[in-house]
This record gives sequence, structure tokens and C-alpha cells, in this order.
Amino acid sequence: HTDRRTQEETDMSDEETPVPTEAEYAEGADEYGEYDDDGEYDDGGVDMAGARGMRSDYCGELTRDDVDRVVTLCGWVDNRREHGEKLAFIDLRDHTGIIQCVVDEKHDLRREYVVRVTGTVVGRPEGMENPFLATGAIDVQNCTVEVLNKAETPPFMLNSRQDIDETLRLKHRYLDMRRERMQRNLRYRSVVQSAVRGAMEDQGFTEIETPLLIASTPEGARDFVVPSRQQPGTFYALPQSPQIFKQLCMVGGMDRYYQIAKCLRDEDLRADRQFEFAQLDAEASFVGQDEVIEFISYAIAAATDAVRGVWPEDIPQMTYADAMEYYGSDKPDIRFGMTLVELTPLFEGTEANVFKTECVKGIVAKGGAEEIGRNRIDELTEMCKKWGAKGLAWFRVGEGLALDGGLTKFMSADELSGLPQMLEAEEGDLILLQSGDRRSVNDVLGRLRLELGQPPVDEGLAFVWVVDFPMFETINDNGDPVAMHHPFTMPHPDDVDYLVRKGGESMLKIRSQAYDLVLNGWELGSGSVRIHDPEIQARVFAALGFTDEEAREKFGFLLDAFSYGAPPHAGFAFGIDRLTALLLGETNIREVIAFPKTQSGSDPLTNAPTPISDQHLDDLGLRVLPPAE
Ligand code: ASP
Repeated sequence: HTDRRTQEETDMSDEETPVPTEAEYAEGADEYGEYDDDGEYDDGGVDMAGARGMRSDYCGELTRDDVDRVVTLCGWVDNRREHGEKLAFIDLRDHTGIIQCVVDEKHDLRREYVVRVTGTVVGRPEGMENPFLATGAIDVQNCTVEVLNKAETPPFMLNSRQDIDETLRLKHRYLDMRRERMQRNLRYRSVVQSAVRGAMEDQGFTEIETPLLIASTPEGARDFVVPSRQQPGTFYALPQSPQIFKQLCMVGGMDRYYQIAKCLRDEDLRADRQFEFAQLDAEASFVGQDEVIEFISYAIAAATDAVRGVWPEDIPQMTYADAMEYYGSDKPDIRFGMTLVELTPLFEGTEANVFKTECVKGIVAKGGAEEIGRNRIDELTEMCKKWGAKGLAWFRVGEGLALDGGLTKFMSADELSGLPQMLEAEEGDLILLQSGDRRSVNDVLGRLRLELGQPPVDEGLAFVWVVDFPMFETINDNGDPVAMHHPFTMPHPDDVDYLVRKGGESMLKIRSQAYDLVLNGWELGSGSVRIHDPEIQARVFAALGFTDEEAREKFGFLLDAFSYGAPPHAGFAFGIDRLTALLLGETNIREVIAFPKTQSGSDPLTNAPTPISDQHLDDLGLRVLPPAE
């Protein structure tokens, strides 16, 4: 029979529309649903778009209101239990949930068989409901069953909540996907994406696709490259981001661009990192930092609301300098306090050698005097050493704020009384100190803070904008600065004069108009006001150590484009995978990606990456070297 979709498709073509016969309507009504007088399919008032195909209802959507209805369901056999001689209970599962069906024992229905079941919805007698099942107040009886496909026994239980080896899960991702967790995560991922798209469209942004085969965009990682067959010996890079193209769109007068863009970066994989990831990428003209923060905050809020049902108001802002001073990190987890406290003045003129350094700071572990035993302290000390510290100074706070710890004998009375005071420590707390140069003190204490204080992931959402990033991160061995963001970031107008070739340490003082968005200690994304003046751009390239020729060769097209009237513009990008994972309380982005790579960058399902044939290599003009010794 003709369903609505084919009807619509036919409507769009020039051919004459075939009108279904009465008999065809009747057949449709019998089997799957009802057609009204206009030939429109009536889905029975269920909020679900489109034709139902082979079924009348979805398993998880049936309720007591459906009692006495004859329904046709399709799905997989989640479980089967014998019931006496003749009957069996099967749990039928589709993407909406599970319902119990009572079937004749003669069917040999095994786990994961694909079936179509027609039966009558029956209310379970009081006291017989299954409180663990959303549809536990009803079941489907007098069933006829059609086996649509058989199935091998799956290599792992699909209905267990136990952890299953991840490589096994990824090897059979299509089975893993049938499980509740992946069903939930992938569907919420889609919810996030459509909320974000809607929010950007609301704000006048236009989605524009940018190419995957490009020259190169510097984002600080290694490029994945694709060899060109037509021009052997040359390579495309896969985009680390659409950065250059979105800026060109601004020159092109598109005004507000966005895209959910796939970005590819060849770097070591971690819990929050995959080679390829999705970003909400955005750029807008004639706006600055404040507007971009507003646009992105709105998109993030819309996604949070769509998943969690709460609209995060007023995301706080913190300067980069404060983030480093108080949290020891440019991605502060502000769900908990335990901030880093400045103690350098207290130790001015100290007799204790460990504290005769540029900087002394500390943190307090509440109640740690008892909770954190000697073994744990040794473990923490080892961690600090791994992070580059000499060791870890610690003190237990006792009665009357008396300190107990190996270093007390080297400390003055003022230091002993000042320490708990400045840290606002109380009896029963553990004080942990670091001393050395400021940068490493902040870094080590920041990590220690996370190690000791990090709350469970699903405990709430703490967004924070980190603003006023410096332009450069460090000076490398060649004496060239390393860009903190990317080289298209606008320096602070007051600091442009420091921008000189081989400018030395003073370059590290240059502020930029760059900002990050952080959620629960994860960097969600970053952005900046861009350079739209070709002269400033040339100076930044020069400061970064590009010769004129190099800059021309790599980015000549960009400088040229800017010479034709580039509007002031600014933008941002945030990770869809990271946002989705955090909103769902997942600690690894692989859990929200349909087909991710393992930590070692391979795909156990398709076995990628794989070698290619000699013929293929020849076509590309490539030779593979034997593996290095
Ligand atoms: N292209 C940058 C990134 O991918 C984001 C931006 O500056 O808009 O991190």
C-alpha cells in the first residue's frame, strides 16, 4: 500500500499522483493504523512524526491507557523466561524501551532475535506490576509472533549494567549501541546539536560548510594529511579547525557564520580527546568579545536546558591571571573551593631553606589530618615530584591550631601561628605547601587541588569564562614565542608595541583578546577577537618567527583577502563531544561518539588504520619505509 512518505515524494514529481484504492486504505488500517478521508495517515495521536512502517506502536510508549488495544510492535528479544509448559514471557525491546509480551512456547525465540509481535494490551493485576520497568503496569497478551530475523548470541549481555571491556564494546559497537547507555547518549547528543543549531539560527547565524581537504590551519597540533593523486608529492591537510575559512567568510560579508564542524588533530588521545571531534564553530562581524560571549552563552544554555532542564544564568568570568593564581589552572574547576593561598610574605626572611624561594603557596584539605594517612601523603609527594616539584610540605592542624609535621622545627613562632591563620585552617585539617618559582608552584598546587578535591562528575555544572589570556605561552628554544591561541588572535591594543621579532621575555606580557569557556574543569572551547588589519597580522607572523616569505607562502591568500576590506570580527568554537559528555555525566567523550577510536587511535570494528596496496601507493607516488629500528 501507499504510505504517506511515498505519497509526498510522488507529489513533488511531475507525474500524476496515484490515488490509493479503498482496499489499499483498508489494508493499511488493518495492519498498521488508520487513514482518514483525505488519505492522511492518522498515527493515533501519538507525538511521533512520519509513518509507522511495520508497527502500530513503540514498546516503551504503551501505558494503561492502551489497555484492550490490539498493537503491533517490532524489536529485539531482550530476554525470555519460560512460564509453565506452554507459555513464555519475552521482553521485547525497541529504542523507546521494553515491554513484556506473553507468547506461545512453540516459538524458539532467543536473545536478539528480531521479531514483530501483535497482541492485546492487558493491565497487570494489582500487586503484579513490575516497578523496574516503565511499562511494568501492563503487558501484551494473545500474541502472534513473526520472526523477522535470527541472531547469534551476542558476545556480551546487552541488558546488563556491568562494565564491559571497552575494546569488545567498540569491536561490536552496533550491539553496544542497542544498550540503554548508548541509546541515551547518542539521542542526547542529537538533542544538544539541534538545540545549539536553533540557538545560533535564533541569533542570526547562517550555517556554512567549509572544506575538509585544505592547506593547513595552525591550531597547535599536528595535521592529518591526505596525499594528492593528481599532483603526486603534494598533500592536503585535514582541517584542525575551519578557522581560516570562517574568517574569509567574514571578509565575504556573511556577517554571522556557524557550523557544527568536524575537526581533526593528530595528537595523543585522552579521555577528553579524539583525533576527530565536532565543534560548534562560529564567527561574527562588527562585534567584539562581549557579544561573542553572549552568543555562545546562549547556545550553551539552550543545550543545557534541552538536556538537563535548567537554563544556566549569567556564566561568571575570571581573568586568566586569577585562574592561575587561585586555581593553578587556566581551566579552573570552580565546583569546589580549596583555592591556592599566597604565603610568600609570611616566609620572607625565613630560616627554613625550602621556603627561601620566589613563591610559597598552600591549600587546605578539610578534615585531612585524619583522613589523609601517611601512605597517601607519600603517594601525593610522588605525584608532586612527577609534576616537577621537589617535594611536598605538609602540616596537620591540631588543638589550638598547633602544627605537626616534619618541617615545624625549622620554622619561627610567627610562621607557625601565621600559617593556619592565613590559610583559615581549622583543627583537624591538613595543610599542603609548595615553594619554588611561581609558575610551577601554581601548577603543582593546582593539580594537587584537583587530586584531593574533585567532586563526582554528575554533581552539577560550573561554567566559567576565562578572559584576558596572554598572547604567548612561552619562548621556545629558538627564542620565538609560542602562540597561546592561534596566530590570528588580536593583541590587546595597548600591548601591540611589544610585538617584535626576538622580543624576548617581555613578549610574554602581551595580553590578547582571547577567551575560553570552561565547564567543571574541562576546556569546552576557545575564541578570540581576530586581527583584521593585514599590518598587525604581518607583525604577529613576524613575532612568531615566520619570515616574510614563509608568511606569504602559507598565509598570503589571507593577507591578500584582508587587504580588500576585512570587517572587525571575532569568534569562538566549543566541543560538542565534551559538552554532551559533561551534560550527561560521562567522564569519557568516547561514550557520546557513535564510532570512536581507542586510546591508541585504532578502530577495533573496521580495523582502521590499515595498510594500502602497492598499486594504490604507486598511484599516489608514495613509498612506505620499513619500520624504524
Ligand atoms: N579555531 C579555534 C579552535 O578551534 C576556535 C576559534 O578561535 O574560533 O580552537
